[in-house]
Formats: sequence, C-alpha cells, structure tokens
Amino acid sequence: MFRRRGSATVAGERVAAPDALTLDGVSRSYRRGTVALEALELAVPRGRFLAVMGPSGSGKSTLLQCAAGLDRPSSGTVRIGDVDIGSLNEAALTRLRRERVGFVFQAHNLVPSLSVGENVALPLLLGGTADDGRVALGLAEVGLGDRADDRPTELSGGQQQRVAIARALVTRPEVIFADEPTGALDPGTAHDVLTLLRRAVDRDGHTVVMVTHDPTAAAWADEALFLADGRIATRLANPEPTQVHGIMRNLGRRAA
Ligand code: ADP
Repeated sequence: MFRRRGSATVAGERVAAPDALTLDGVSRSYRRGTVALEALELAVPRGRFLAVMGPSGSGKSTLLQCAAGLDRPSSGTVRIGDVDIGSLNEAALTRLRRERVGFVFQAHNLVPSLSVGENVALPLLLGGTADDGRVALGLAEVGLGDRADDRPTELSGGQQQRVAIARALVTRPEVIFADEPTGALDPGTAHDVLTLLRRAVDRDGHTVVMVTHDPTAAAWADEALFLADGRIATRLANPEPTQVHGIMRNLGRRAA
C-alpha cells in the first residue's frame, strides 16, 4: 500500500513524521577496494543526540560525510527528513547543506575577516533568509551576546566553538553534524560546548549526530553507535563513560 511519509493523514490515520536522518543500505568504497562503509542501516529520530564512535579507520568520517551530503555513497539511500539527498543535483545539495543541515567541526571554520555576528548570519545571508533577530538571539543563547562586533580571533577557542554552534543552529536545521566538536578543547570548555548541544536537543528539539573519540563526550548523547570496519558493531543507549571506554578497548583489540 502506498503510504506517504510526513505528518499528513493517510486514510484517516496519522502517519508519524519522518526521522531526521535515515541511512538505508549505505555503502561507500574507494578506488583500490577500500570499503569504508558497508550496507549501513541507521535511522535517527528527531530530537535525538547520537554519538558515533569507533577505532580510527572504522568509517566515522565517511559516515558523517555521506550523511551530511558532503560525499555521495557508492550505493544506498540517505534521507534528511523526507528528502532523498541522492536525488538532488549539486545546486540543490548545496542549498540543502546550507538550510537543512548544520555543521560544527573540530576547527570551527569561522571566517576570520568577518565579525562574530556576520559569521553567524552567513548561512542566512547565503540563503537569502532575513535575519529576524535570530543572530542576536543565537549569540545571546551561547553567552556571547556582547561579542557580535568582535573578530573570531579575539575570542578563546571555546568561545569560537560556541559561535560555530550559534551558526549551526541559525537556520534551524533538520540535523546538526558535529565532528569532534570538543577535540581541541580543555575539559571545562568541552563541558560548556556539550551543554549547548544537549540543550539544543532537550529544549529545542534539535537532532545532533556527533563523531567523537572521547567517552566523556559520548556520555552526553542519548545513544552511542560504535563502528568497526564500516559496519555497526554495537549500539549503547544512555552511554556511560566506563561502558564506552570498555567497548572502545575491545574494538581496538579486534582491529589490532
Ligand atoms: P574514521 O573516521 O573512523 O577514522 P574514515 O571514514 O576516515 O574512518 O575511513 C574509513 C576507511 O576508508 C579507512 O580505511 C580509510 O583509509 C578509507 N578512506 C577514507 N577516505 C578515503 C579516500 N578518500 N580514499 C581512499 N580511502 C579512504
């Protein structure tokens, strides 16, 4: 039977909203035969915080790149909400990345020649969306309401990462992808950054997919997913640092 995804009513029945992110049979192989991802199945519901872990070379970056539309899988389907991103041409994919996806990287990729406020406004500007006060609000939300006119270089590493989070949230994206967002931060500053991501999920219903190698960071997520050799080795709900550490140690042994 044909069933539309989305919140529409089909034959008088409520159909659940689509997951924020869906990977269906996603494989990615490179020339010379490296298989970075193998037939991955993953659905991330809205309002969920997922940590992606695994030994080096297990496919974490490839997963993030394919899920975020920065790379195309060799086979399989990636959906952001109800959009099959494999069906989009480059222009539409660029627009999707700008408007429906937010990014927070380890090195925050702020534009040094722009002010802090202009950096946060950039995704709106590029998309032709009006700033209805959300840049100022976004900066206030990350505790930097008084730094809009400063240059990124005038801020500490942790403050710059908070600007990157404000920028990732400004378009109210479907999914926020974070790649080792605390990798370059001291524990206290990392705590602040994770608090903001957690709040974006709990208070505002955002969806976060975070690649990390840090068990303490992973423990902020609702679930940790462990990759090994391009496959999901195991998943852990409500991860605790000691459990995460144990699983990582075992996977590391297996990989060695
Ligand atoms: P992780 O992020 O977990 O360290 P990656 O996703 O970067 O893992 O890599 C998964 C596998 O794919 C590794 O074996 C890696 O060497 C390989 N790989 C990644 N990118 C490329 C590429 N551009 N060309 C060839 N092989 C690659």
